[in-house]
Amino acid sequence: MSALPTVAIIGRPNVGKSTLVNRILGRREAIVEERPGVTRDRNELDAEWLGREFTLIDTGGWMADEDGDELDAKVSRQSEKAIAEADVVLFVVDASVGATADDQLVADLIRRVEDKPVFLVANKVDNEKQQHLIWDLLTLGVGDPHPVSALHGVGTADMLDEIVAVLPEVEIVEEEEDPDRIFGVSIVGRPNVGKSTLFNRLIGQDRAVVHDRPGTTRDSIDTVIETDGGPLRFIDTAGMRRKAKVDEETEYYSLVRALRAVDKSDVALLVIDATVGVTAQDQRLAERVDASGCPIVILLNKWELLDADGRTEAMTSVERKLHFMGESPVLRISALTGKSVDKLWPALEESITNYSTRIPTRKVNQVIRAAQVAQAAPEGGRVLYATQGATDPPTFTLFANKELPRTYLRYLERSLREAFELGNTPIKLRVRRR
Ligand code: GDP
Ligand code: GDP
Repeated sequence: MSALPTVAIIGRPNVGKSTLVNRILGRREAIVEERPGVTRDRNELDAEWLGREFTLIDTGGWMADEDGDELDAKVSRQSEKAIAEADVVLFVVDASVGATADDQLVADLIRRVEDKPVFLVANKVDNEKQQHLIWDLLTLGVGDPHPVSALHGVGTADMLDEIVAVLPEVEIVEEEEDPDRIFGVSIVGRPNVGKSTLFNRLIGQDRAVVHDRPGTTRDSIDTVIETDGGPLRFIDTAGMRRKAKVDEETEYYSLVRALRAVDKSDVALLVIDATVGVTAQDQRLAERVDASGCPIVILLNKWELLDADGRTEAMTSVERKLHFMGESPVLRISALTGKSVDKLWPALEESITNYSTRIPTRKVNQVIRAAQVAQAAPEGGRVLYATQGATDPPTFTLFANKELPRTYLRYLERSLREAFELGNTPIKLRVRRR
């Protein structure tokens, strides 16, 4: 498979597919057959428009069988495959002839894949007077026709503008995950909530094989811990590893330090002193960490000190003051006694899985489509196509026909989060106007 986005050109013989390929390539390379019904091998050609590169897949024509009206199974399969693999489908019809039974068969193939942009190319509209011919093609049920003349190059530039606008980003396609990457975890919280105690507890556990790594700043140390789910890098553990803390960190310095660590993390453990409850400082820190775009696991530490009322109070303070982190798991632990500290590992693993998840484009589009059916955007706004452009955190690019209101984007975000069970990981949405 090519690394470039792909554009498949589909249609019955003689509608002008080869001519269109030539027009797009700007050179006469594909062979134009004058006779209908000549099968060609599938042709893949690299093309470029407005600096965007893509691969054209020309499926050729297909043989009609003896009756002259049925799709040859093999070529039809080939078209189906091309449709399935392509990022964008150009369905070419001959507007001067109108929608034929064969065109209907192709339209049926195309309608079966619901999740990619399809351009209905009304070819052989050589001049203005023929414009009216295109309305007959609405009966194909695959969207609005784009009138062009492949032969004379009329309308093709406008259509190419629209095509490259919906192509997925090239750098997205080529982005590769490093399989040996070690995910980073930071432990953040106000002074004295128990970060060091927790960290020492974590490296003290039997499972932990520890090695130090120089961190990113001069006074920082990262520690790699082997876990059942693979190695994890705890970020800037310098202060936490010191047996006796020489000087008490100031509130401000610990905030700066925490945010620096969070920036390098794939997940953050936010430690709260359960005996105090969520303070305004905790809240501010939580907001900053949340805004940095990494998932958060909330730890209510010193849990063993609380009686039943105290526990209820602590939970209530989380619900009230950290409600904006509603998706984050809340673990009740005692770093000092080690109680429930083990619950950290599965919570970290799940957060990291969600954070680095990659969802197939087909599924992204299914969810966006269903969300739009359930609740359409106001004023005719519509997402035409969506793709996950990046991970860490999951970042989705939505190609829309116009600007979409924030509330509607939040609705789409919620739909994606629920459908793919993304839990506490932040989601980013980028909107591109087509
Ligand atoms: P394909 O086999 O479906 O790819 O179609 P071709 O590209 O081989 O074209 C079939 C015939 O239609 C050729 O004679 C072309 O010259 C002609 N043709 C293609 N595009 C146009 C067009 O925009 N206008 C007119 N009038 N003829 C066209
Ligand atoms: P840091 O400043 O966030 O790193 O906090 P420390 O780990 O230095 O802990 C501050 C104080 O809280 C120390 O006296 C710890 O012994 C105590 N502490 C930490 N975790 C717990 C816990 O789970 N239960 C109790 N009772 N005390 C704890």
